[in-house]
Amino acid sequence: MKDFNITDQGEVAGGIFTHVSFKNHEQVVFCNDQETGLKAIIGIHNTTLGPALGGTRMWNYSNEAEALNDVLRLSRGMTFKASISGLNLGGGKAVIMADSRKDKTDAMMQKFGEFVNSLSGRYITAEDVGITTHDMEMVKMKTNHVSGIPESMGGSGDPSPVTAYGVYMGMKAAAKYKYGNDNLAGRKVLVQGIGHVGETLVHHLCQEGAQVIINDIHQDRINEMVTKYGIKAHIGSDIFNADFDIYAPCALGATVNAESIARMNCDIIAGAANNQLAEEWSDEILLAKKGILYAPDFVINAGGLINVYSEIAKYDRSESLRRTEEIYNTTLDIFRHAEIEGITNHAAAVKIAQARIDNAK
Ligand code: NAD
Repeated sequence: MKDFNITDQGEVAGGIFTHVSFKNHEQVVFCNDQETGLKAIIGIHNTTLGPALGGTRMWNYSNEAEALNDVLRLSRGMTFKASISGLNLGGGKAVIMADSRKDKTDAMMQKFGEFVNSLSGRYITAEDVGITTHDMEMVKMKTNHVSGIPESMGGSGDPSPVTAYGVYMGMKAAAKYKYGNDNLAGRKVLVQGIGHVGETLVHHLCQEGAQVIINDIHQDRINEMVTKYGIKAHIGSDIFNADFDIYAPCALGATVNAESIARMNCDIIAGAANNQLAEEWSDEILLAKKGILYAPDFVINAGGLINVYSEIAKYDRSESLRRTEEIYNTTLDIFRHAEIEGITNHAAAVKIAQARIDNAK
């Protein structure tokens, strides 16, 4: 990937419109508040199908360029996710540059809510990495353009369990396509990132009798999960040398890249993380050469978006789960479509998603 120009101070020095991850985004908003220490970027990629809905990520980015790159990639992914899931939503996402374990305060989240409110509904926020339903409660104090608020406040609650259910459905569809059987019992599944989504995915996999191996950067989290589920952990960052059939990336993006693919020895990649492919048009070709089936991330991790959309479209949890279960068939359709057209699964999914947006114009 071409790097963005960064000054000695780690600041963005080039232009946004020429950024490698800028893909005709409609709006990029920089939010700064000295009092609470809030530094955030909201990316609105496309609102053809509806308001841009996407979670807020809090991450300790090493510099502004990294944060900008993330929000541009994430918000575009949301456009495709909403479209392929048949939702009347556009694509947007926000990032807050902070360490969620140390820097986050209620005041910071409320200030962020004020910035979201200033966009008058063009962007609707929700949870992502480093953000909880309590944080959304704080945002809700300043704006109505927020979803994923607690059920006690009339919201749909944490979207993560529904996301995990969709990923589980997508993984089963991938197994069906790859092995001719969607039973995951006995399959070795490496789940990287045992956060909100990762844990529920582990729960589904354990229930089905899969052999789960987990990995996380936080040892306390690994210990907790090993004790709770009686599963194995792979300690350290060198995960691709472990022995597994299915890789489920559930941490951050770009873990599937030329370097990691060279070391991978699995059959399937199916996980929750957004933007898993570092190079969206070429990495899956490398995977295919090694016989690794990739389930497009924005297709199989759409359960949470489907669930938060229920707050707007006024449908209930059972309807959210029914729609999320459909991810199984959608994923299989994409595999077949890609095979017929001789294109990658990611390309097939983008093509179908883009067609719905183009038709709506
Ligand atoms: P989370 O913050 O609850 O969990 C992320 C976990 O990943 C944490 O335990 C963290 O320690 C771990 N992690 C971070 N970097 C890691 C690394 N390099 N190696 C191993 N572990 C690492 O986040 P979440 O809500 O569970 O989301 C996980 C992923 O799924 C994200 O990429 C998110 O964008 C995506 N996603 C989430 C939802 C949702 O409903 N929460 C919906 C769609 C997509």
